[in-house]
Amino acid sequence: MIGLEPVLDYVRMKDGILKAISADGTIRAVIATTTELVEVARQRHQLSFTATAALGRALTAGVLLAPLVARDGQVALKFQGDGPLGKIFVDASPKGTVRGYVQNPEIELPLNSLGNFDVGAAIGKTGYLHVTIDHGFGGPQMSTVELATGEVGEDINRYLVNSDQTGSVVVVGTHLSKNGVEAAGGLIIQLLPDHTEETICQIENNITTFGAFTFLMRRGMSLEAMLGRILTGFEVTPLTEVKPLAFRCKCSDERFVEALKVFTKQDLISMAEEDGQAEGRCHFCNEFYYVGKERLLDLARGR
Ligand SMILES: [Zn+2]
Repeated sequence: MIGLEPVLDYVRMKDGILKAISADGTIRAVIATTTELVEVARQRHQLSFTATAALGRALTAGVLLAPLVARDGQVALKFQGDGPLGKIFVDASPKGTVRGYVQNPEIELPLNSLGNFDVGAAIGKTGYLHVTIDHGFGGPQMSTVELATGEVGEDINRYLVNSDQTGSVVVVGTHLSKNGVEAAGGLIIQLLPDHTEETICQIENNITTFGAFTFLMRRGMSLEAMLGRILTGFEVTPLTEVKPLAFRCKCSDERFVEALKVFTKQDLISMAEEDGQAEGRCHFCNEFYYVGKERLLDLARGR
């Protein structure tokens, strides 16, 4: 049984993820803190506040979904709404790595009527969420749902209900100050087939009294304690220890050089002679790559 821990004042938590299942097998839960990785994304992509809130929620959603749906592979999310941010792309793996970007990172919108960053308007309330799951074997599984609100949490919930036909609760949040990301994280609770009406009532009741995720984080509540609070009334067993999370991209010098192989010998020679180098930028992490003249000529000679 996970108990509540005492609340401490304003502790900055390390990123991590925890999975758990209720002893009666009716509920599966995954909970994560993502403050550091969202801050890395903010700095790498020079995100506006609105874009940080939106991409932060999407990165958190990816991190939470990956261990639920992708096992040894990865999950890719594409939010394609009609809002000014354009598309949002996220790749996440159950190993705890995630990367992502937003098409228009500079877009800033006024706060909504609740005083929150207007993620729904920024992503757009009309459009699609595309989810691609690669299990690491066989072909990828693709599915698409219409956006529910563009607020990310509701959209992911719609995807889960659509794909699994089970009820779920999705919470994703990003708390920002002028200094950057103060707290980010979220949780997914899935009702498994043997759940009862009482299970649903208890979960609904727990959500009502849970409080704001990022507020609890900033008060230093641990993942175990937050899980204990959201699953009050259930006996819960963590399936794993808290596992670390990180923003990590797959790009590298080698991959950039590999990508240059689509060019013809003549193209490579032209790049070397006219530009003196080839340069490129990784969309996912905003890292710049350069290949100098000699290397380009070497590549051309190898063709
Ligand atoms: Zn990259």
